[in-house]
Amino acid sequence: MVPYYPLDRVNAAFRPALSAAIEQVVSSGWYVGGEALSDFETAFARYVGVPHCVGVGNGLDALTLSLQAMGLRYGWTAEAEVVVPAFTFVATALAVVRAGYRPVFADVDPLLAVVTPRTIEPVVTPRTVALVPVHLYGLPAPMDAIMALAEAHGLQVVEDAAQAHGARVAGRRVGAWGHAAAFSFYPGKNLGALGDGGAVVTSDADLARSVRLLGNYGAARKYHHTERGVNSRLDDLQAAVLSVKLPLLDAHNDRRRNVAAYYASHLPAEVVALPYGGDVAQSVFHIYPVCHPCRDALQAHLSAHHEVGSLIHYPVALPDQPALAAFADAACLYPHARRWAAQELSLPIHPFMTDAELAQVVEAVCAFGR
Ligand SMILES: *Cc1c(COP(=O)(O)O)cnc(C)c1O
Repeated sequence: MVPYYPLDRVNAAFRPALSAAIEQVVSSGWYVGGEALSDFETAFARYVGVPHCVGVGNGLDALTLSLQAMGLRYGWTAEAEVVVPAFTFVATALAVVRAGYRPVFADVDPLLAVVTPRTIEPVVTPRTVALVPVHLYGLPAPMDAIMALAEAHGLQVVEDAAQAHGARVAGRRVGAWGHAAAFSFYPGKNLGALGDGGAVVTSDADLARSVRLLGNYGAARKYHHTERGVNSRLDDLQAAVLSVKLPLLDAHNDRRRNVAAYYASHLPAEVVALPYGGDVAQSVFHIYPVCHPCRDALQAHLSAHHEVGSLIHYPVALPDQPALAAFADAACLYPHARRWAAQELSLPIHPFMTDAELAQVVEAVCAFGR
């Protein structure tokens, strides 16, 4: 059997260093806001290539608090519009709603599944204040062109980098392009904790301070509350775990790209449409997406006849989610978002896949075409 993502196997590779790091936090007596947190924040900021990192409770909070901090600074109102992809994980749009603004959906590129200036520009209005491009599946959105568009319209940019730790655009890491960026350390992400976690990274010291304040009950000084904040912190145990795993992130992303290269050269293109036309250079492959018009039948075939695990990311485009329907533009068809939702299937990909597992996945997909 080929599991979709065996988290136990992935984390076993980091033992006994994980156990030692956890033991050290237990002994320290500091479990929130301690040295393990500040050590990880420093290391992750350096890794991304920005001066500031603020650990928060999860990726949703990282997005929400970034937008709230910007809204406080620029005086955004409830009518302010924030452009998000019509095809992404729901958190991207929910963060806009939770921050108090209106999400506006932009369709995605048919080949890349990310937003581009071509798909963003038609939905920008005089009320638009910010863009939240998502580096979906680990493939960076075209940040150079998106930042130029934002500059031209006077918009803030928050990168949703929850699926793309370590990816680069033109040599610069994702997270170092926008005015702020949000990361998630959910266990299944490319850099995953042993529980929930997230971070905001930015080059803007005031924004970093504001995010930290909002995530700490709106207080810069204990018991003195200048904003109505929330409790959203990355705890020291998770920070210590992440510090153990960060040094191997690049090597593991390389291994993911090798898996993707194997798939690209062995999967029959007449059976499944390959991501990015088979070009594996840019993505860190959080997910290896293929498309098929009979996606559900392909998934059932893989699991029933070949014991190959697969998942669908994501079966419903955001404008079609009942919870978000109020923000959908009835006149807009979001054709590419809806096609991705109808046809995408995620094949197993992680740094510890064996050659035998890869061959089994390829054989299973080929058999579907026979
Ligand atoms: C995982 C994810 C999030 C949310 O992260 P959590 O830590 O689960 O809150 C946000 N955006 C995208 C694209 C994600 O994949």
